[in-house]
Amino acid sequence: MTTSLDLAELYRDLHAHPELAFQEHRTAGAAAQHMRTLGLDVIEGIGGTGVAAVCSNGEGPTVWLRADMDGLPVEELTGLDYASTTTGVGADGTETPVMHACGHDMHVTWLIGAMRRLVLTRESWSGTVVAVFQPAEESIAGATAMIEDSLLERVPLPNVVLGQHVAPFPAGVVSLTSGTAMAGSDDIAVVLHGRGGHGSRPEATIDPVLAAASTVVGLQSIVSREVTPGTLAVVTVGTIHAGSASNIIPAEARLGVNVRSLDAKTRDLLVGSIDRIVRAEAQAAGMTTEPEINVLVSAPATINDATATQVVRDAFAAEWGEASVIDYGAVSGSEDVGVLASAASAPLVFWFTGGSDPVLFGAAAAAGRLEQDIASNHSPYFAPVLEPTLERGVAALVVAALAFLD
Ligand code: ZN
Ligand code: ZN
Repeated sequence: MTTSLDLAELYRDLHAHPELAFQEHRTAGAAAQHMRTLGLDVIEGIGGTGVAAVCSNGEGPTVWLRADMDGLPVEELTGLDYASTTTGVGADGTETPVMHACGHDMHVTWLIGAMRRLVLTRESWSGTVVAVFQPAEESIAGATAMIEDSLLERVPLPNVVLGQHVAPFPAGVVSLTSGTAMAGSDDIAVVLHGRGGHGSRPEATIDPVLAAASTVVGLQSIVSREVTPGTLAVVTVGTIHAGSASNIIPAEARLGVNVRSLDAKTRDLLVGSIDRIVRAEAQAAGMTTEPEINVLVSAPATINDATATQVVRDAFAAEWGEASVIDYGAVSGSEDVGVLASAASAPLVFWFTGGSDPVLFGAAAAAGRLEQDIASNHSPYFAPVLEPTLERGVAALVVAALAFLD
């Protein structure tokens, strides 16, 4: 156990071997093995590929530290010598390149490093730390899967749930927001039912491709015309599928719509307006079958507990100085870490840890080229700089955990 652990080596290995949601077998196996090496009680296969490891160290509070494990169906273009060349089979059954384009490999490495540091210093604190390695964050299903598979009955309940995400601002900086920190997300599947036929005889058909195109444009009026300016709201049509040949008018068209909002009122407005506009477009096209509109997945907004967030902020500022702790404010990204905290009725603190080369970031900011020059999460070029990202993330988990432990 006292043999040294090369975190950079561990990170590069995880990065080169990403796995899609609920397929994180190798990653989960590595996490479990490292936890066993530390002498911890390890439970595997929670909610599919989830892993929990318990470090019981006497009386005191229980802290959960959470890391997500899944990669994304993205072809890596970073050119790194540890870049992924892996493929996986997606939910639709097709083979796809896979990449750790959201940095969950960094999260797993941080948590392994933090658990090791906490175990090695266990003489100096007391309480219980539970490492939660969660599957399938990207599909917003992994936290729920672990809860439904009795996570709460299998490990000590938390007094606080802590987690962090690597983000494209300078390494060495952490961003912590009290209250609503990340948006809620809804995935909505739309099917428009037309009437198929020959491409040369549109008069004999009801064209779902035209209706889908009109719907995509119409949906973009919701945020611009119905939401109060300044309120965070996003409607994205991320997929559109119809047809098989240019001379065939297909019978149906499918849209994948994603919605982001910070509060229930805005969320209900967005979802309600999507329903209204889709039905109106179908009617305008003369469709005789009602469209299908189904909310497939919903993630609640990520809400940080004000008191617990202040505890973490003070601990970070004491450790690294005020300048290293920023408050970026609520972001339009979404997370399911809040599901773990809500299920356990525990306060949540979830923060962002910078992963960009500070020099490159500074140059890009000075040139007004952050969007162009600094790859963000989900980009095929996303490549956190190893240091100080690794050290700062490990330290952040340890410092935050110790702020709650005795
Ligand atoms: Zn992501
Ligand atoms: Zn992520």
